[in-house]
Amino acid sequence: MKMLRDITDLKDKKVILRVDFDVPVSDKGQIEEPFRIKKQKETLDYLVSHGAKVVMAAHISDESVGESFAALIPQLHILLGHEISFIKTVAEIAPYLDHYAGPALLDNVRQNEGEKKNDPEFAKKLADGFDLYVNNDFAVCHRDHASVSAITKLLPSYAGFIVEEEVANLSRVIDAPKEGKVIIMGGAKASTKVPVIKNLIDKCEAVLLGGVVSNDVLKEKDQDMGSSLVDTDTQALLAGLDLADTRLVAPKDFVVFDNKILDIGEQTIRQYIDIIASAKIVIWNGPLGLFENPVFAKGTNEVASAIVASSAMSVIGGGDTISAVDKIGLLEKFKFVSTGGGAMLAFLAGEKLPGLEALN
Ligand code: ADP
Ligand code: MG
Repeated sequence: MKMLRDITDLKDKKVILRVDFDVPVSDKGQIEEPFRIKKQKETLDYLVSHGAKVVMAAHISDESVGESFAALIPQLHILLGHEISFIKTVAEIAPYLDHYAGPALLDNVRQNEGEKKNDPEFAKKLADGFDLYVNNDFAVCHRDHASVSAITKLLPSYAGFIVEEEVANLSRVIDAPKEGKVIIMGGAKASTKVPVIKNLIDKCEAVLLGGVVSNDVLKEKDQDMGSSLVDTDTQALLAGLDLADTRLVAPKDFVVFDNKILDIGEQTIRQYIDIIASAKIVIWNGPLGLFENPVFAKGTNEVASAIVASSAMSVIGGGDTISAVDKIGLLEKFKFVSTGGGAMLAFLAGEKLPGLEALN
């Protein structure tokens, strides 16, 4: 992968920087979780201090701001420590570069029809006038979008510090010896998690299951799931996974309410804590229960506490997983918090990510 770090001369280079500003915004217009934005600061600072002329491109999905960055510019200014100019449309990029006045942000790149289609014509408009492209949005690297993929065909393209750091940390835990490596998979979107289990089960000592992922496994093992949330086609979903594999650890007891499994039970919590206590590496994605309700958050909270109390190299990711551990004040205690939800899972599943392939 070509790294931003390796570029020797950035002075006066016009750089289009793909950043990750896809944050939740409150009804009052306040950025609720600035973690992703703050993580962009290092790469932006580096480019600016080396004399590059930077225009950032990003997407935002929050509807309370009409999927536009317009109202967020003053907050970005504070979070990034730079005055940020606002460029409304792609057509306004070229005139801005001619009268460059500090780092700027193009409005939501997904407002352009060609973005999600990975349209080469749109990529050409986006790349026009720039010398270099830097991708610093790991979370979007599993998408074949114009500002992630097609643009790299038009400009010399490099990985920013975030992408470099994500790939280094995730590769490190995947490649580490399997002794003492523990994977914890929970949450709801089982179709994105099962491929990770299939890819990593032979590279670890235990896969601890929770959430809907374990419901699916238990259903396939012919356990009565009552009204619990389960996927419809669990047979297809779990095909190729040996459910009798002793490394695959399903919960033994549960917290049940209204005939639904909503959390792992006490005995399972103790078993998981024991396994985590002697782990060297823990990779965790997905809450183990319906953590949004404190009554069903115990499994998730106790597992989080056990991970941070252990000396293991811990890697976590996933929007809900991060918000669950942040809620109990433990987020900073994890060794590595991935900014990529879907992208992290795709990487752990051994898939080729279009955004990363493009930087090779
Ligand atoms: P992440 O965002 O961390 O990747 P997911 O989006 O896959 O995680 O799943 C998080 C959701 O899974 C949460 O809303 C949580 O309430 C839900 N969940 C976890 N366990 C259960 C369960 N047993 N029944 C229903 N929902 C669950
Ligand atoms: Mg989620």
